[in-house]
Amino acid sequence: MSNHYDVIVVGVGGMGSSALFHLARAGFRVCGLEQFKPGHDRGSTHGDSRIVRKAYFLDPSYVPLMHRSYELIAELEARRKVTLFHNVGLISAGVIDSPFHRGMEKCFATHQLPHERWTVDEARRHYPHFRLPEDSIVYYDPAGGHGNPEAFVLAHVECALEEGAQLLSDERMVSWSASAGGVEVRTGRRTLHADKLVLTTGAWIIPELTQLGVKMTLKRKVQVWYEVTKIELFRPEVCPVFILKNRGGDFYGFPTLDGRTVKTAETSGGTELVSADDQHGRLLLSDHENLTRFMRNTFGELVGAPVAHKECLQTFTENQNFIIDQHPATARVMLCSPCSGHGFKFAPVMGEVLCQLVAGTRPELDISLFRLNQFLPLS
Ligand SMILES: Cc1cc2nc3c(=O)[nH]c(=O)nc-3n(C[C@H](O)[C@H](O)[C@H](O)COP(=O)(O)OP(=O)(O)OC[C@H]3O[C@@H](n4cnc5c(N)ncnc54)[C@H](O)[C@@H]3O)c2cc1C
Repeated sequence: MSNHYDVIVVGVGGMGSSALFHLARAGFRVCGLEQFKPGHDRGSTHGDSRIVRKAYFLDPSYVPLMHRSYELIAELEARRKVTLFHNVGLISAGVIDSPFHRGMEKCFATHQLPHERWTVDEARRHYPHFRLPEDSIVYYDPAGGHGNPEAFVLAHVECALEEGAQLLSDERMVSWSASAGGVEVRTGRRTLHADKLVLTTGAWIIPELTQLGVKMTLKRKVQVWYEVTKIELFRPEVCPVFILKNRGGDFYGFPTLDGRTVKTAETSGGTELVSADDQHGRLLLSDHENLTRFMRNTFGELVGAPVAHKECLQTFTENQNFIIDQHPATARVMLCSPCSGHGFKFAPVMGEVLCQLVAGTRPELDISLFRLNQFLPLS
């Protein structure tokens, strides 16, 4: 195996697997370097399900990126002959006149996305098993659904390999350097050389970004599977993905995927970690007591005990926007990550954008929100 490439992608998770594919397809000689095996459960891209949607209360400028992500998901599905996105619909509910309510209205007004706006009574007529707080506004998003994050990573990796990419798994980058002649990536076993380097190291990118002056937080989040009775009410044919924001916190969940349990998690909360290597795997009462309260308030006696869990790393910038840009010290290195708990659905388009940055072409989509200068103090 030659150790000189056009591009090395370090971190073959959600973003890196997509970048690897797009770079290989564009004709670059590319090598992916991953410290574990692609599809592993120690980073941010695992746990059977992730929400995929177009309507965004955070900022309407995410929507054009999602339009493109949907196109790329359809291409990936056609190429792999698998269903990666399950378009079961999505309801989101939040307090009337909250930032959520205003953000959703702004998003729908800006992009004319199909949706329905419901009162709590109207929502109850559609989904009688959901008990929502009376002061909620409810939206139904027919474009919403879910995707399996591990399957996305593996699909991107398989396509990348078909396009000629190389992959080194179970091998960790120890350090990198850039000079006028190129970049060097050192692992415990070898030194790799390339013209350009893409760093998609997820939660492990924090020291790199902190050094540049970006304020970051790392949280350990827990996804919990609950046993439910009347499982027929939670089947994907009749139960949408749900995002419910109320005064007890922000929560989300999925229809049953195994015919026995329902996976939910809390967007709010989580435990701050110092390092991405600090996970311990155990489920603590403090991990799920607020979530269990939410589940019982929302679904009452239908909800049984938590029966399984998976921890996961969430990496936050201060304003929850992503970072995707050239390294300020060298045009040879691209940085992409801190996806603040909502990046999975953008991975297909982020890989394409990274490929455009590597090629030196101006990204067709507006990524100005995600440029490093948005996160650095004015000098
Ligand atoms: C519980 C939870 C729920 C979420 N829900 C949603 C959701 O519903 N919808 C949504 O859109 N988003 C969601 N997100 C966010 C989304 O999953 C993440 O933004 C996205 O998966 C991050 O991908 P990534 O490539 O940045 O990180 P990762 O997938 O973790 O990839 C980083 C990779 O880099 C590797 N790596 C790190 N350092 C090195 C090194 N030195 N050498 C070699 N390899 C290295 C890691 O092993 C890892 O594989 C959720 C996240 C969590 C944790």
